[in-house]
Amino acid sequence: MSAPARPLRIGIMGGTFDPIHHGHLVAASEVQSVFELDEVIFVPTWAQPFKKDHRVSPAEHRYLMTVVATASNPRFTVSRVDIDRGGTTYTIDTLHDIGAEYPGAELYFITGADALAQILTWKDSDEIFDLAHLVGVTRPGHALTESGVPRDRVSLLEVTAMAISSTECRRRVSQGVPVWYLVPDGVVQYIRKYGLYRMPLRPSSATS
Ligand code: ATP
Ligand code: MG
Repeated sequence: MSAPARPLRIGIMGGTFDPIHHGHLVAASEVQSVFELDEVIFVPTWAQPFKKDHRVSPAEHRYLMTVVATASNPRFTVSRVDIDRGGTTYTIDTLHDIGAEYPGAELYFITGADALAQILTWKDSDEIFDLAHLVGVTRPGHALTESGVPRDRVSLLEVTAMAISSTECRRRVSQGVPVWYLVPDGVVQYIRKYGLYRMPLRPSSATS
């Protein structure tokens, strides 16, 4: 007898991914396994409302690094919805667009503790909770709290701590320090091939 049909479970991991690193990948993999997600979609942003004064790499580079990093995992895919929409990226629009591609699916929006702490300040946060279940994952240096999100709409998950940030990866590359094993091998090679992050960081981007 075949198993009863259940709605597709789709994870969504939004990010600047400048560059994508093993912290993102471990968190996504853990949530996929715990919530038995059929797919986790990585969605590189176009312009992040909270990063407007930072220098961010061109979207095509961030998109392609995300494709390279996720290619070997059959449950991981990458979506261009935020890049193709352009303008400021709001999670509410991401959820509407992905939801339209997967009618009837349950959406799980995955965020690190730092992003979860800000979520009530996001555009249309009430509607975000209607459209998706939030999964907050641990991130070293940031406390994991529900942050006032409705209890039945959020799950908190302790994932293996990976003290990696894109900011630190960019800083290392700009100083000629290796990023091997912090990001997937193909991403190390992509960064080198296109000479990304060679310029020293501006002070404003050193703390995100
Ligand atoms: P930056 O330093 O440029 O802000 P970042 O490392 O924070 O980069 P983002 O692209 O801003 O990466 O993050 C996308 C999502 O991944 C956010 O929800 C963030 O909280 C989460 N995240 C980033 N790094 C980690 C990590 N090491 N562990 C768990 N979650 C993470
Ligand atoms: Mg960040």
